[in-house]
Amino acid sequence: MRKLIAGNWKMNGLRADGTALARDLAGRAAKAPPACDLLICPPATLLAEIGSLLAGSRIALGGQDCHADAKGAHTGDISAPMLKDAGCAYAIVGHSERRQNHHETDAAVRAKATAALGAGLIPIVCIGETAAQRDDKEHLRVCGGQIAGSLPEIVGAGQLVVAYEPVWAIGTGRTPNGAEIAEVHAFIRGELKKRVANPDAVRILYGGSVNAKNAAEILAIANVDGALVGGASLDAASFWTIAQAAG
Ligand code: PEP
Repeated sequence: MRKLIAGNWKMNGLRADGTALARDLAGRAAKAPPACDLLICPPATLLAEIGSLLAGSRIALGGQDCHADAKGAHTGDISAPMLKDAGCAYAIVGHSERRQNHHETDAAVRAKATAALGAGLIPIVCIGETAAQRDDKEHLRVCGGQIAGSLPEIVGAGQLVVAYEPVWAIGTGRTPNGAEIAEVHAFIRGELKKRVANPDAVRILYGGSVNAKNAAEILAIANVDGALVGGASLDAASFWTIAQAAG
């Protein structure tokens, strides 16, 4: 399966540096397109502008979250149809920072993923265990529970991405070793086989301290169909090296 390299900019980027980064990446993609799919998820304030800038390029646009409702009295929230309207093709849902900081439950994440699908977006559903859960060897049980609770009920072929992001690896510079990543990704594929019609069409991304140095090794692991990249996606050269490693 063609890999997907997705950049999660989180709450980073003002108009000047955000558009410069997007332009830099679009220029690289036009000159020497890597043999993978590319996605950037800038903050909401930059979506429409970067959406216009990326139109016709090989880089897709995604939101970092969406509300479960299409519209209404939800101050500060953004709906899936709004993301679509701004030019998005994907929406990250259930990122551990949202699960932690905004107390999002599996049921809330499932509702958001379902709303994303309903708006014609591909949800990237994030799952992953904490350090304590890994120490207790609870990681598969935790990921299994998040899959059971967070994935949309009905998914067509190619309409879903799952991102395995161990919480302890996000922004820490620590990553699981190859065998640990392989174990969880094989487990996720097995769980998908029980739940979705085309489990092999679901990309399973690894996320957590992916960088220009470790990307090739991580992307070579079985069932790793791409990467969700945080910090390193804010630097065009690093993100590009990761994209090239996916090709
Ligand atoms: C993320 O937050 O999705 C992520 C993977 O962050 P980082 O690459 O910085 O660990």
